[in-house]
Amino acid sequence: MKADAAEAIIGILEAAEEVALTSHVNPDGDSIGSLLGLSISLVALGKRVWAAIPGKGILPPQYRFMPGQDLLVPAASFPERCPVFVALDCGNIERLNSLRDKALRAERFINIDHHLDNTIFAQLNLVRPDTSSTSEIAFELLKEARVPLTADVAMSFYVGLMTDSGRFQHDNTNAATFRAASELVAAGGNPHRAAHEVYENQSLEYMRLIGRTLVRAEMVPNLELIHSYVSQQDLAETGAVMEETEDLIDILRMARGSRIAVLLKQLEDGQVRVSLRSADDVDIAWIARKHGGGGHQRAAGFTSPYDHETTLRIIEEEFRSN
Ligand code: AMP
Ligand code: MN
Ligand code: MN
Repeated sequence: MKADAAEAIIGILEAAEEVALTSHVNPDGDSIGSLLGLSISLVALGKRVWAAIPGKGILPPQYRFMPGQDLLVPAASFPERCPVFVALDCGNIERLNSLRDKALRAERFINIDHHLDNTIFAQLNLVRPDTSSTSEIAFELLKEARVPLTADVAMSFYVGLMTDSGRFQHDNTNAATFRAASELVAAGGNPHRAAHEVYENQSLEYMRLIGRTLVRAEMVPNLELIHSYVSQQDLAETGAVMEETEDLIDILRMARGSRIAVLLKQLEDGQVRVSLRSADDVDIAWIARKHGGGGHQRAAGFTSPYDHETTLRIIEEEFRSN
């Protein structure tokens, strides 16, 4: 851990009476886990906490079992000028969406993240790209501050580790990830419950959506690229909600012969959210960055103003000409 940033952040959080914390827009298990884990801890230390999911503010259904979610408030209820504002798991400031301007107006603006392409957008930046997840960084931070780890906090961070490491299978998983996971489980994190709730408790509506997405999946053999899409019409017809589709791309990328997976999700406003995944040594983050998004070398995303067919053509062209 970059000692000076961590130390400075601990000092600020210890002194603060009020702290605002946020995940990124369209939150995943890591941003939610780090948000709830830190929020529960700060409340236990007697601080006034504002915790929010920016944008639509929807907690995805698969995370509705998580402790601490009663602490979540609408992003719009954040004070105009927060004494301390903590952005979690955000590679750039645009990920704060509706809370971006309030973050910039905060007296102290802190960025805790693990994206390699983090733009170091805050006053204090604790960015560790060698770490599995923001939840792991948050856990290390609390340990360094000697904050007692409760079972609820341990469970929150464990969910962050589990989801961002792809159930401890992605190449961001190393001995340190397992050490952290071991400590979290010893403190009351429940691996069986976490896996069950996040991965094995899906709505039948979403299961039907998975079926549709796989039926229409196509492979571009010379690029070793598999792709599919989800439209607003699919959501309407199956009854699934976009928030529960986080692991859909992980199902798509299981196909033999694919080294790149592309999932295009049509948003309510007609734009398309692009999820990119790759295997082995294929770097896909550059495409996401080039089109205004970001992410990791093997898991990245961006939002496209074009429809899914045009967006896919653009992506294929990028890979062909690279
Ligand atoms: P997703 O495909 O939405 O699960 O995102 C995969 C990875 O890319 C995550 O690490 C995200 O933080 C990152 N990512 C996705 N969309 C964006 C975006 N619009 N801007 C920056 N990073 C993104
Ligand atoms: Mn994330
Ligand atoms: Mn993350």
